[in-house]
Amino acid sequence: MYIMVINCGSSSLKFQLISFPEEAAIAKGLIERIGQDIGAQFTLSVNGKGFKNKPIDASDHTKAVTAALSALTTGECAVLESKDEIKGFGHRVVHGGEKFSAPVIIDDEVIKGIEECNELAPLHNPANLTGIEACMKALPGVPNVAVFDTAFHQTMPPKAFHYALPYKFYEEDHIRRYGFHGTSHKYVTKTFAKLINKPLEEVNVVTVHLGNGSSLACVKNGKCVDTSMGLTPLAGVIMGTRCGDIDPALVVYLMKKEGMSPEEVDTLMNKKSGLLGFSGVSSDMRDIQEAADQNDKQSVLILEMWAYGIAKYINAYAGTLPKTDAVIFTAGIGENSPGLRKIICDNCAGLGIKLSENNDNVRGETGCVSSADSRIPVYVIPTNEELQIAQGTAELLTLK
Ligand code: AMP
Repeated sequence: MYIMVINCGSSSLKFQLISFPEEAAIAKGLIERIGQDIGAQFTLSVNGKGFKNKPIDASDHTKAVTAALSALTTGECAVLESKDEIKGFGHRVVHGGEKFSAPVIIDDEVIKGIEECNELAPLHNPANLTGIEACMKALPGVPNVAVFDTAFHQTMPPKAFHYALPYKFYEEDHIRRYGFHGTSHKYVTKTFAKLINKPLEEVNVVTVHLGNGSSLACVKNGKCVDTSMGLTPLAGVIMGTRCGDIDPALVVYLMKKEGMSPEEVDTLMNKKSGLLGFSGVSSDMRDIQEAADQNDKQSVLILEMWAYGIAKYINAYAGTLPKTDAVIFTAGIGENSPGLRKIICDNCAGLGIKLSENNDNVRGETGCVSSADSRIPVYVIPTNEELQIAQGTAELLTLK
């Protein structure tokens, strides 16, 4: 039996077909430019077969889901005998506000709840809802489950999630820290618990998700107690195009001094800052490393700032845990760059972290990268948000 995991953007639909009980990704697909005049394109990969950027008719998301289902059941990439083998859809939903702290089976009430969170994620939640409605129409009767990026962080205590603004902004506007990448932080925590054979409820870790977007979580007894992103994903460490933590007074300062509008400041901080903005080179870490290797001054400096900022969070989080079982690196940069893991850990000397030679060998795979005498072990665990969504869906539908 299969679960289809859906990650829907405003004009795109990413999906994975995951088989149970094997928990194997059988097919991965992406449909882009949905509803656009230039025409939609479909990329699919199934067991080494597939196609890239194939023009298809997908004037809306329902047609895109129908095209995906049809490609999985007929033609050269068919892996299913019938659509009936799909027992559920698992949807990535970015914002669940304070309403959702775990996956839920989607019904009218849940749709209303997700809509109420639209204000908190205006770019993402409406698109996620479009995907949900498209799957409901394309395969009526098959259950849909929502898995929220914010859910894992809902266990944070009030002292960690509040901002020191007048309380009415929390009560009336729900302004607080929510955190994101929750599915990834949960997945690597769970995987680590299994790896070291310890009950999840006893695991204390600092999880470090370093990709295009980056965040850290402090996990105590298997539950998130703090995270670096906030009301929005702009907060926390330096990212590809986001500035991360800054003095909040800068927003008003820029508006007054540069005559910038709220939208312009928003674009500046979310899309034109971070690695890209400071270096002027690229938002891609590999380009920054290449430029730094050629002594590009700003690229050298942004790398130091980036690593130092991440290390400050690791130091702070590990400092609040009674005993840290591990620091866990994950996502594009965390999994693949031994050199950057090393620079970050060199900024954690007070924690007694020491990397081993094995750090250089571990790329894109699970492994311990710290030496035997490191006071806190350091692990690399590749994230798998799709699998986490599929597992959450299967568990809820009692298919596992
Ligand atoms: P993600 O958002 O998890 O897909 O991660 C994307 C980021 O990972 C980009 O900034 C990539 O440059 C970075 N990345 C991927 N592979 C490597 C690598 N081998 N070394 C450094 N950065 C990498």
